Amino acid sequence: MNVLFVSAEVAPYSKAGGLADVAGSLPQALAPYVNAIQVLTPLYGQIDLVKHNIQKTSIQGKISLGKELIPYSLYQTLDADGITRIGFVRCDQFFARDGIYTESDGEGFADNNLRYFFFQLVVLDLISNGNMKTDILHCNDHHTGLLPAMVKAMKLNIKTIFTIHNFLYHGHFSLQEVALLPEPLGSLLTKTQWDNYSALLEGIDHSDVVTTVSPGYALELLAGINVDTSSHVRIQAAESKFSGIVNGIDTEYWSPALDHYIPFSFSADEFEGKRKDKEELLLKTGLPKDAEAPVIGSISRLVENKGFPMIVELLDEFVALGARFIFLGSGSPEISKQLKDAANKHPRHIAFEDGFNEPLAHLIEAGCDMFLMPSRFEPCGLNQLYSLRYGTIPIVHHTGGLGDTVEAWSSTSGTGFLFEPYETKELRAAMQLALKVYHSRDDWKTLMKRAMAKDFSWDQSAKQYLRLYNS
Ligand code: ADP
Repeated sequence: MNVLFVSAEVAPYSKAGGLADVAGSLPQALAPYVNAIQVLTPLYGQIDLVKHNIQKTSIQGKISLGKELIPYSLYQTLDADGITRIGFVRCDQFFARDGIYTESDGEGFADNNLRYFFFQLVVLDLISNGNMKTDILHCNDHHTGLLPAMVKAMKLNIKTIFTIHNFLYHGHFSLQEVALLPEPLGSLLTKTQWDNYSALLEGIDHSDVVTTVSPGYALELLAGINVDTSSHVRIQAAESKFSGIVNGIDTEYWSPALDHYIPFSFSADEFEGKRKDKEELLLKTGLPKDAEAPVIGSISRLVENKGFPMIVELLDEFVALGARFIFLGSGSPEISKQLKDAANKHPRHIAFEDGFNEPLAHLIEAGCDMFLMPSRFEPCGLNQLYSLRYGTIPIVHHTGGLGDTVEAWSSTSGTGFLFEPYETKELRAAMQLALKVYHSRDDWKTLMKRAMAKDFSWDQSAKQYLRLYNS
């Protein structure tokens, strides 16, 4: 079985969120079980060819998009496992930019629909002209949502699987934009109630199998939670091919014992390194050294649905209780300002780093005591998994993948603190309970050990994908 895995982001080459982490690690986990797995992604301007040993291949072609004929060429490298091939589609007019999806001010590129139409047409070109042999085409999120319909339109003898990493982003496009696509694709597409098209829903309609990144989120989508009514009809129509598989993590890259971004390694048997990492984190973020104070971390895109309004509301209260907060994130200027203001108001208790910072993300995971993730909804969530692995206890909303991966604390079981319904007072109660347990040192140590004992390696999940591929 040959598999082609297509994604708009692939870590460590390009990353805006969790999709990149999955695209960077799931194919490697599948590689031992299939004949060959190859990943395809755009070659963005920020990708360092030399660092990643990315070489030009002899493969190239031209894609007609509307009246234009646009050339592309294929680059490639071998992933860290030495087996998985990563192919990069080069087309400077669309991809040689610093951002993946957005300008530096956070505004999405005006031609994003065209960029991903083009990328998908290249994937199709590579398959149909024999340059990419595949039995299974695994598409991810709306950037690749038109591929299942394209495969149908071309009557290619391959099966498609479409994975939803976040239902919030549809990749809406207009009737005029459909006219740029080759016929007979247009006739296969279905309008939304807003008189436009959704690449995400097209992926759901036309793929052979649909998955999302946790069983809990699959149930929520099927139940229509946070889904508009016309999309819900299309999800329900896909129910028999719909399932949820929880994401795994790269357990070497996110490992307290092996992590080269953190100054002191540690394990569930030896927490001395974690204590020192906490000191280092406080030093780096300009907070006073205080081994006893609970430090609560957050690493996130700054968007409303990650729970920032509730967090901001509770900051004064928890600062008064002695908690320290360390925020790392980029996104909404408004949330960024609120966090900046809070840090200015409480310089000894709150630190905020505005931006995307991989090394600091690892140090936060290692050095914090707790991790705050009160997402309104969360398809899977990765940071709570990294947190568990570093003994950094997650405080999360009971939703989607968070509910599937964090178990409620009790004196004898559990790995974190969950709250529902989605109200500030419930989050407050979860944080209060977390602080109470934190101050009971033996209970906390037991909790950390339980969290660190959880296995979120890809193996189990990869086997579930494999079963779907085989089916
Ligand atoms: P989402 O995909 O909705 O953004 P996830 O929790 O699934 O949320 O994945 C987010 C990924 O992006 C994690 O690996 C997280 O560590 C990373 N991340 C998010 N914001 C930042 C940031 N500002 N700096 C470094 N890493 C970040």
